[in-house]
Amino acid sequence: MTGPSVAPRFPPWWLDEAGPEEPSPRFEGEVVADVCIVGGGYTGLWTALALKEREPTLRIVLLEAEVCGAGPSGRNGGFLHGYWAALGDLVPQLGQERALLLARAAERIVPAVRSFSEARGEDVWLRESGMLMVSTTPGQDAAVERAVAAAAAVGAAEQAVPLDADQVAGRIHSPVFRTGVYFKDGATVQPARLVRALRHGVSDAGVELHEHSPATSIRDGEVGTPSGSVRAREVVVAINAAATGWRPVARHVTNFGSYVVLTEPVPELLEEIGWTGGEAVLDARMFLHYFRTTNDGRVLMGSGSGPIGFRGRLDGRFTGDTPTAARAEHGLRRLLPGLAEAPIERAWGGPIDVSADHLPFFGTVSGKRIHYGLGYSGHGVGPTWLGGQILASLVLRLEDEWTALPLASRQVPSLPPEPLKHLGGALVRSAILACERADEENRRAPFPARVGAALPRLFGMEIGTR
Ligand SMILES: Cc1cc2nc3c(=O)[nH]c(=O)nc-3n(C[C@H](O)[C@H](O)[C@H](O)COP(=O)(O)OP(=O)(O)OC[C@H]3O[C@@H](n4cnc5c(N)ncnc54)[C@H](O)[C@@H]3O)c2cc1C
Repeated sequence: MTGPSVAPRFPPWWLDEAGPEEPSPRFEGEVVADVCIVGGGYTGLWTALALKEREPTLRIVLLEAEVCGAGPSGRNGGFLHGYWAALGDLVPQLGQERALLLARAAERIVPAVRSFSEARGEDVWLRESGMLMVSTTPGQDAAVERAVAAAAAVGAAEQAVPLDADQVAGRIHSPVFRTGVYFKDGATVQPARLVRALRHGVSDAGVELHEHSPATSIRDGEVGTPSGSVRAREVVVAINAAATGWRPVARHVTNFGSYVVLTEPVPELLEEIGWTGGEAVLDARMFLHYFRTTNDGRVLMGSGSGPIGFRGRLDGRFTGDTPTAARAEHGLRRLLPGLAEAPIERAWGGPIDVSADHLPFFGTVSGKRIHYGLGYSGHGVGPTWLGGQILASLVLRLEDEWTALPLASRQVPSLPPEPLKHLGGALVRSAILACERADEENRRAPFPARVGAALPRLFGMEIGTR
């Protein structure tokens, strides 16, 4: 495989498009607050907003190490959805009733983003055109069928509508697309514009936001920074992949890289392949491709096949891995040959925090008032809204509809300790990549690769990433 034609680099195009913004003041001094939130991505920002909505008088300090959106919240593919597309995996894990509870709760995500951005009058490029999963090899057909069957089995067939090859081609034409399933619960956003709108929202709500202010220590009742500390009864750790090495959660989560390439505007090519409806599209691989259009006629193609991290370190594996950016570009050319001539303008990557069962988890450190939420496994743009509601309830010591969700109430499976976590994950990743490459080339994968790829499921894990 050649490429990529553009090396991954920063900033992501989304942040450039959103435009420059004055950072909030650095944190200094000794401050007493009710709540200290660490991390200014979607999780921290939605949590701050949910808390202010419920208890407007709370004094909340939010510390962000860089600027809001510097992490995956400003770099992602912008797929905004809940859990209908995952129902086929959720039912065996959670049971039908709890899986359905989660899927129904998550139906509120897109309307929440819509009403939030409309109320603020900020355009986050919300496009509610649904999400399409397509099968691109015979081996992927089963995943499409499973998604359709899972929704039908719970009496919600309208949430996962099967499409034959002609119907798929009616939405987007590609010679490699076979069948598909359309999820109406799906939208796209401009990720950095969403972060910005949330950032403005929390500031207007009276949250004390400090950027370039990393937390250097987190203890019960106190968060330290290089220039002072916040004493707060309640602490929320919303640092996503940066928490993967943090002892309270380290056994449940590991990091993988995800990379995207973005084309220059090619609206005329999009017309030619009939992809003008704005659908978010993904294939049915384990290390899936995800692709979408933008308001100005670009195409973003992502590949969740990046390297696995070690001991939670956020190093060059998550920002400069050219082979994964090349896989994203290869995916673009293979899946959408009608865009063969579309020049790549930018490529970038980031870490995704993958939990052992592929679902985020939220909780409180035993015996302390330190709350956390992570493990989105590459699907956090929408679920972070749920996370904000759950974390607000944990802070307020409520047992309610949010804390009853499986995201906060299930037993989260464990991964092996390091270095086994890294070594095992790397082995499984290579095996899955080899199997998926063989599948796309219409040949049988070597036996060791098939065994390696089956290992996670044998241990009841869902190691697959976006
Ligand atoms: C390339 C890519 C594509 C993706 N595509 C999609 C998609 O299309 N759809 C989808 O649903 N999900 C997608 N995801 C995942 C999604 O972006 C994340 O799940 C989501 O953004 C997580 O939000 P967060 O607020 O929890 O974390 P983050 O966005 O990582 O925010 C955490 C923040 O904490 C800050 N921080 C870290 N350490 C400290 C510290 N010590 N002190 C203070 N602050 C700290 C960081 O600077 C960061 O700003 C993608 C991820 C990547 C990398």
